[in-house]
Amino acid sequence: MSTLRQLFLSRVAQTTDFPLLLEIERAEGIYLYDTKGKQYIDLISGISVSNVGHCHPKVVKAVQEQAEKFMFLMVYGEYVYAPHVRFADYLCKQLPSSLDRVYFVNSGSEAVEGAMKTAKKYTGRAEIIHFKNSYHGSSHGALSVMGNEYFKNPFRPLLPGIKALEYNNPEQLDEISTDTACVIAEPVQAESGIHPASEAFMKKLRKKCDETGALLILDEIQTGMGRTGTLFAFEQYGIVPDILLSAKSLGGGMPIGAFITSSAIMSCLKENPILGHITTFGGHPVSCRAGHAALEILLEEGHIDQVEEKGKYLENLLQHPSILAKRRKGLMMSLEFENFEQNKRIIDACIEKGVVTDWFLFSDKCMRIGPPLIISFEQLKNAAEIIIKAIEQNA
Ligand code: PMP
Repeated sequence: MSTLRQLFLSRVAQTTDFPLLLEIERAEGIYLYDTKGKQYIDLISGISVSNVGHCHPKVVKAVQEQAEKFMFLMVYGEYVYAPHVRFADYLCKQLPSSLDRVYFVNSGSEAVEGAMKTAKKYTGRAEIIHFKNSYHGSSHGALSVMGNEYFKNPFRPLLPGIKALEYNNPEQLDEISTDTACVIAEPVQAESGIHPASEAFMKKLRKKCDETGALLILDEIQTGMGRTGTLFAFEQYGIVPDILLSAKSLGGGMPIGAFITSSAIMSCLKENPILGHITTFGGHPVSCRAGHAALEILLEEGHIDQVEEKGKYLENLLQHPSILAKRRKGLMMSLEFENFEQNKRIIDACIEKGVVTDWFLFSDKCMRIGPPLIISFEQLKNAAEIIIKAIEQNA
């Protein structure tokens, strides 16, 4: 009989020739356990998903309770169901008053699609501006605003009217004009190896959008839900986006995404045509209950307040001459090594020693660090010791 690993390799679509191939049987808090019972510290949170850790009892309870009542009844936007409505209301209550409407979808990419469609429809314009090194998802629209030619080129033709500017270069923002429907940006570019936006850049971005009537879409799919030390990173820049995107940790481990904007902007999806964005599973009741529980955990248990202190603590522990650069915002961090080969050796050694890390999509010489926000100082110390040992043995 084939092993699970053989079946995975023969039956399941493969997207690289070098998958991690960890065979995980269960997960709890910051830990993953493989089929042999080996424990791993999850230092990447499934790429910014498990901010409240794995199988948090309150999230599990919410999922179980909802699954027993109903899982799915009707496509998006027709029936009134409590999990959806209460989550939207709770989310809006945490946001500036202009962000008062939530469209729940299934993923980050779909949130990007919905937001760009909304911006085109609302402004009546077609040009979309994004930034070099940006990552916004893998569907055609989201790929059109990806800032990396290696990943997007084979899928051309993509959307027309797309312009890529340099990130963190305020001068280039003068390209934003009255032809621009929207500008989409991440407050921290993650996949290039953690590059936070400067305050001057974000302030000018907001100003140019205000002057031209272009909508500012902030993609907080990785940076959201407390990852950078505030519920959303934009709060630290003193600006408010026109459309806010969330996904990944929004569902507490269940699939959900959202684009959030003002009632005035969102209402353009209601007419001419009606049903301007349609989704079957968007805002799935079980995902909404899980997400609601996860947001309550983050806010009521004070995890977000500790993010910056924990990030600083970990950064200070990670000292070694082979680390050529460290970049960090809250609990998203990048350690830069000399090249991919060295980084890969260190990552493999970390996994061997029970710490799961990874590299970044556009920066394979950088190690990704983004633990669940519930991680304790003691656990951060354990993880840091293992990383340093792995570096010492493989530098
Ligand atoms: N935007 C950002 C910043 C992301 O990191 C991701 C996922 N890595 C996406 C969008 C796309 O999300 P999804 O994979 O859920 O489609």
